[in-house]
Amino acid sequence: ISWTAEDEAIIATNTDATECKRCAVELGYWKDDYIVYFAKHVDRKAPEINRGYYARVKAMEMFIHQFLERCGTKCQIINLGCGFDTLYWKLKDSTQAVGNFIELDFPSVVAKKSHIIKRNKQLLEKISNEDGEVMIRSGDLHSDGYHLLSCDLRCLSEVVRKLEAGGAGAAPTLLLAECVLVYLRPEAARALLEHLAGAFPRCVLLVYEQCNLGDKFGEVMMRNLSARGCALPGEPHCREPGAQAARLLAAGFETARAWDMDTVWRALPEEDRARVEALEMLDERELLQQLNLHYALSVATRGDLFADLDLNA
Ligand code: SAM
Repeated sequence: ISWTAEDEAIIATNTDATECKRCAVELGYWKDDYIVYFAKHVDRKAPEINRGYYARVKAMEMFIHQFLERCGTKCQIINLGCGFDTLYWKLKDSTQAVGNFIELDFPSVVAKKSHIIKRNKQLLEKISNEDGEVMIRSGDLHSDGYHLLSCDLRCLSEVVRKLEAGGAGAAPTLLLAECVLVYLRPEAARALLEHLAGAFPRCVLLVYEQCNLGDKFGEVMMRNLSARGCALPGEPHCREPGAQAARLLAAGFETARAWDMDTVWRALPEEDRARVEALEMLDERELLQQLNLHYALSVATRGDLFADLDLNA
């Protein structure tokens, strides 16, 4: 697969996501002691963006906790297109640190993340082996229980090889795809999803990405994605959330459900919503609703242990 300007534009989406997360964290939307290492000096974002990110992070967290409640620490997490996500460090500080954590992204993102980890003691000390060792092998970072690996998710043989190198095993698996699949062509996304569903008989997959892009509001988002060579009309994110769930079932997952983020937002505990609504003024509430209607969270599972995962659990 050749490297293109479109790939560069896709890689840049990580910078944007990290900056938005840092901004919301600074304003008190949620706690993340590690995001500051990955994004320096960010401009303030619009209130609806901050709230949208809050709903995104909170919704992912809600299902991550449901997964961990069911299988304890004897499990693995595989973060597809991880960007500068800080989940590994946040879990390390909780009682929910997991057995093995594998992160995959393009080589340049992995190199930058790796560099930031090595430069910051607070990050490094959470991934070192007992003797303080972190191993770097052909650009990938390995330690006990944490693997940061360069990988093009469009290339299935590379995904298979890297997951093996990261020690992916038969343990219950949480697969994360937060704003990632949308950047893959449908055939590549299908092959990846089919492989994952086949390889992990006890798993939960969380997919967060755009949906409903067929309307006027979605047009702008669609143009943004098209500039990156993705989001062709007819793909699941151009349609209603149910299309995403259908794609996950077709790939071999046993259950799959999807909600737009407006539904997710309204399902969040009342006190959480009230707290973040008090953080900053949002004059036009419709703006947040519009935004939320154009993102969806999908949850797909395999194995009885996870069949009852739910939004209101
Ligand atoms: N998941 C992170 C989050 O939500 O904060 C990062 C999201 S960012 C919008 C998308 C990430 O997916 C980028 O880091 C990008 O490099 C990665 N990505 C997109 N296509 C990829 C591919 N084919 N192979 C590996 N990584 C990819």
